[in-house]
Amino acid sequence: MKLKRVLTAAALAGGLVACATSPLGRQQFLLMPAGQMDEMGATAYAQMKEEQTLSSSQGDTAYVRCVANAITSTLDGSQQWEVNLFQDDSANAFALPGGKIGVNTGLLKVAKTPDQLATVLGHEVGHVQAQHSNERMSLEYATQNGLQLLGSLAGQDSATKQGIMAALGVGTQYGLTLPFSRKHEAEADIIGLQLMAQAGFDPNASVALWQNMAAANGGGPPEFMSTHPSNETRINGLRARIPDVMPLYQQARAAGRKPQCQR
Ligand SMILES: [Zn+2]
Repeated sequence: MKLKRVLTAAALAGGLVACATSPLGRQQFLLMPAGQMDEMGATAYAQMKEEQTLSSSQGDTAYVRCVANAITSTLDGSQQWEVNLFQDDSANAFALPGGKIGVNTGLLKVAKTPDQLATVLGHEVGHVQAQHSNERMSLEYATQNGLQLLGSLAGQDSATKQGIMAALGVGTQYGLTLPFSRKHEAEADIIGLQLMAQAGFDPNASVALWQNMAAANGGGPPEFMSTHPSNETRINGLRARIPDVMPLYQQARAAGRKPQCQR
């Protein structure tokens, strides 16, 4: 029934429908034009910058940018990425379509090394690379709200705006959290491992990061803790995948990719 509604919305949208394939080969049904996702991401980010406090620490901000830039420099294309550190105690981070990354100061207490921070940022950028928010919006919102969503974020009523923020993965601050599905989390974990390895960060650090995250587990559920996979499942999944990406890591290091990011 859900599919039928999607198909109806797709028919309405006419020509905007794309059957896509995720970076890991999974079939996806995407209704939203990529350019519009980018615009929504940028608008949401601008709003967050307006309403939330940025860290006053230039050193910590530079450190976070160093790690994020190392990750995004491995991507194809000409996308420029904006990276900011938000003054917020919850251990969280996000990446949005349109090249936007946010890290909370609270994450730096949990992600204790550059490689651990790269684990989180690789994961978040993985969600963007795999167009997960487009997929969520296509399934959960475009079907209900039809072509409304094809307008700009700024012009939406508050309920729709809240839904869009949630689908983008930044709804917590706006009263509606929509966790990524287990499928999306697993995909972002795998893409994240690949990205961090290609950037020259040690993929083994991902295990320590998620162990730290499980130990901390306070200050509200961060994006990547608020969904189904138990920490143990997640850590076991990562452990199983690390050998696949070690050659990428070794190649990156041999090619001189040795990010020098220090707090
Ligand atoms: Zn996630």
